[in-house]
Amino acid sequence: MLEIYNTLSHRKEVFRPLHEGRVGMYVCGPTVYGDAHLGHARPAITFDLLYRYLLHLGYKVRYVRNITDVGHLEHDADEGEDKIAKKARLEQLEPMEVVQYYTNRYHRDMAALNVLPPSIEPHASGHIIEQIAFVQRILDHGYAYISNGSVYMDVEKYAKDFPYGKLSGRNLQDIIAETRELDGQAEKRHPYDFALWKKASPEHIMHWPSPWSEGFPGWHMECSAMGTKYLGEQFDIHGGGLDLMFPHHEAEIAQSCAALGHDTVHYWMHNNMITIAGKKMGKSYNNFITLEQFFTGKHPLLTKPFSPMTIRLFILMAHYRSTVDFSSEALEAAEKGFTRLQEAYMRLLKLCERAGAPEQAADNELYTRCTEAMDDDLNSPMVVSALFDSAKTINTVWDGKATLSPDELATLRKAWRTFAVDILGLQFEESEGQNNHTEAYHGAVDMLLNMRLEAKRNRDFATSDRIRNNLTALGFQIKDTKDGFEWSI
Ligand code: ZN
Repeated sequence: MLEIYNTLSHRKEVFRPLHEGRVGMYVCGPTVYGDAHLGHARPAITFDLLYRYLLHLGYKVRYVRNITDVGHLEHDADEGEDKIAKKARLEQLEPMEVVQYYTNRYHRDMAALNVLPPSIEPHASGHIIEQIAFVQRILDHGYAYISNGSVYMDVEKYAKDFPYGKLSGRNLQDIIAETRELDGQAEKRHPYDFALWKKASPEHIMHWPSPWSEGFPGWHMECSAMGTKYLGEQFDIHGGGLDLMFPHHEAEIAQSCAALGHDTVHYWMHNNMITIAGKKMGKSYNNFITLEQFFTGKHPLLTKPFSPMTIRLFILMAHYRSTVDFSSEALEAAEKGFTRLQEAYMRLLKLCERAGAPEQAADNELYTRCTEAMDDDLNSPMVVSALFDSAKTINTVWDGKATLSPDELATLRKAWRTFAVDILGLQFEESEGQNNHTEAYHGAVDMLLNMRLEAKRNRDFATSDRIRNNLTALGFQIKDTKDGFEWSI
C-alpha cells in the first residue's frame, strides 16, 4: 500500500483517494520569464515519478500543472514589478510573447527529461474571471477588504477562525515576527496581509477590469481558482517545491478556507531544494545553471555536457524530501551510474532474446523490492540501488559465470521495464538510438564534405559548389581550414 508524507499532518499516511480509482493532483508550475534550471527539474521529476507510479497502480489521474504568466511580482510575491512584464519591457516584447517563448522552451526541456505532460496545463492569464469570482467569495465571507482599488486578505480576521500557518508549522505571532515592512504597503492594514487583487499602476501593462479596479490577480490566487475549477472543491494531492510552502501554499489554504469554508487538499507534498556547494541556487548567487547549459556543458561550473537522463537519474538518486547538493563530480557519478544501468538493461534484453524468454512473466524479488521502496513515500534511491544490485547479477550471467532460466530472465526484464523504464522514466533504448543517430548524422555530413574536397582537388568546381550550396541552404555553416574543413549548424 502506497504511503506518502503529508506535509499537512507532518507524517506518512496511507494514500486513500477521495474517489475510488481516480486521483486529482495539482502541482505549481513555473513562472515563465526565463529558462528552466535545475530547481525546476526537481519538482517536475518528483511529481512525474508520483504521476507515473499512480498510473502504474491503475489510477485514472487528472494531473494539473499550471503556467504562471501574470501576478508573480518581484518582492515577496505581491510587491514590485510583475516578473513577466519586466522581462517584456527589457526585451521590448509583448508579455504574451515572453510567456509563449519560455513556455515552449520549458516544454522542450521537460520532454528531454522524459517528464510526461500534465493532463491540463492552465495559464493564470486565461483564468481571470475565475480568480475574480474567487476573490468575491472571500470578500462576501468577510475575510478580505478593499483598499484603494486593491483587495487584501485580512489575515488577522482569518486567523481567528482558521489555523493560519498550519502547513509550515507557523502561528500568527511567528508570521508577524518574520514579515518585513516594505515601502508602498500603506494600503494594507497589516504588512502580513497578502494581495488577492492588485490595482494596476499606470505603467503596469498587464491588467483586466474587475469590480474593484483595472488590475490583476495576486500570485497565490491562480492556484486556488484553477485547482478547484479543474479538480473540484476537494481533491487529493497538491504538490510543489518546499520554497513554495510559505507564503504561497499557506496563502492558498487560507484563500480556499475563506472562500469555501473548508480545506480543499487532502495530501500536501513538497520536494526539497537543490543547493550548489551548499548554497541556494539563484541569479544573485552567480550559480544559476539552466537545463540547456547542463545539456550543452556551457557553464563555468560544469566540466562537460550532461545528458538529460544523467540529470534525471541524479535527481532520482536522492529521496525527494532530502536536499541534493549539486556538483560536477556528483553528476559525473550519476552519469557512470546511468551507463551501468543502460549497459545492464541492454545485456538483459539480449540475454532474453538469446534464451527465448517468454513475454509473460511473474513478479520476482526485484519487483517486490522496488514496489516496497516506491510504496514507502516514493523511495526512488532504494529502487535505483535495487537496480544496481540486479545489474551485477545480469553482468555475471552475461560473463557466463552464472545462468538464469528463460523464465527467470523474463521476470527480471519485467521488473526492469516496470521500474527503470516506466516508473523512474529512464530512457535506455532511445538514448542509445539517439547516440547512433548522432553518429550517423555526423558521418554523413563529413562524407559529403570529403567528397567536396576531392571534387575541388580534381578541379570539379561544379560539384564542389553544389555540395557547399546545398548544405548551406539546409542551415550548415562550412569553413575551409588548412587541414580540410569545419562545420556547424
Ligand atoms: Zn501554486
